[in-house]
Amino acid sequence: MSAFTLRGPRVLDEAGGFRGPLDIRVVNGRIDRLAADLPVDPEFPDQDYAGTYLLPGIFDVHVHAMTNSADAMELLRTPITYRVAETLAALKRTLLAGVTSIRDAGGLDAGIRDALARGLAEGPQAQVSVVALSQTGGHGDGFLAGPGWEMSNEYMTPDYPGRPAGVVDGVDEVRRAVRQNVRAGADWIKLLVTGGVMSAGDGQFDEQFSPEEIAVAVSEATRRAVPVMAHALGGPALRTAVEAGVRSIEHGLWLTEEDAALMAEKGTYLVPTLTIYRQLADAALLGALPGAVATRAKAAGDVLGEAVRIALAAGVPIALGSDFAHRNDHGHNLREIPLLHRAGLSPEQALLAATVNGARLCGVDGDVGRLVEGQRFDAVVLEQDPGDLSLFERPEGVSGVFQNGRAVKTRS
Ligand SMILES: [Zn+2]
Repeated sequence: MSAFTLRGPRVLDEAGGFRGPLDIRVVNGRIDRLAADLPVDPEFPDQDYAGTYLLPGIFDVHVHAMTNSADAMELLRTPITYRVAETLAALKRTLLAGVTSIRDAGGLDAGIRDALARGLAEGPQAQVSVVALSQTGGHGDGFLAGPGWEMSNEYMTPDYPGRPAGVVDGVDEVRRAVRQNVRAGADWIKLLVTGGVMSAGDGQFDEQFSPEEIAVAVSEATRRAVPVMAHALGGPALRTAVEAGVRSIEHGLWLTEEDAALMAEKGTYLVPTLTIYRQLADAALLGALPGAVATRAKAAGDVLGEAVRIALAAGVPIALGSDFAHRNDHGHNLREIPLLHRAGLSPEQALLAATVNGARLCGVDGDVGRLVEGQRFDAVVLEQDPGDLSLFERPEGVSGVFQNGRAVKTRS
């Protein structure tokens, strides 16, 4: 049996404020008792956490752990085994940053998820969508015009045995792709229903997949009790996806008040992924992005944060997602927290978006995501009150991380 008592931290409560000082007794990875002044008991050795602030482990519900570069030539030249090794390193950095749970939005498969769950590698608990589904010529189509090669799922992961194809057209192919992903162990189906900043083509954020294709994907996934997440920047396809019953809208930059009202009514989450658009817009202003990508990145930068204000006003639940897909970014996921605050969430709302809201979106809030008795003890330790949340801009702001009651990052 593993058992200990943390003495004296202040603990994030369900309203997003800090309560305490309290004592937390952890037994076999779960919170057994949470109260002020628990009696001293040698069976549960004390650890001094006076003066610290404790959050539940962070949920990053939009990440691409399997991708570590945006350089297409590099990705095409890299063996898949090297990619897996680099992915495991990225997952470990992500965990040490305080992210104890992720939802991967395309790339990570059930093999890595299960290896993490069984302790073969250190990383967050993962839910995976395996391959994001795109139409031909859509956001996920990496067609190489020179050699005329089909490249499904862009270059994020190469095709490999057992992994379904991600570029599909028509109701029948979409239905089959959903079934193949579920067979491959997908916890989520990811649909790309509009273009994106990094799309290969010249188009703007156009509608992708027909309403019939979106509807069949959602109904087929729903029959298998698998939820759907939709990459949608705005416009009619975002609306169609919400109406069809997707559980979350990813990005949603051009969300309208009408969209937000419908999302609130249906309980659809918004995952705004602000950090990545801030980075892309900054890179575009520095001239570091090519033609159409730069134009789209600047357009995204101009509206960044507006969707969050619209969603917040309408009562749409918001969860944290970084959309990180690069070796320089994995492990800096908590930067999204201060950006959510700057976009209009109070510090309390931003901390809840980063924790319990992600757990609710992932359907695991009965087990993890809150610091209350009975929950698994995934937690982040801060040495000071996070205040305006700017301490999350640096990974060093997090001084300790617990996963399943085990200190994976120990306070120095
Ligand atoms: Zn993404």
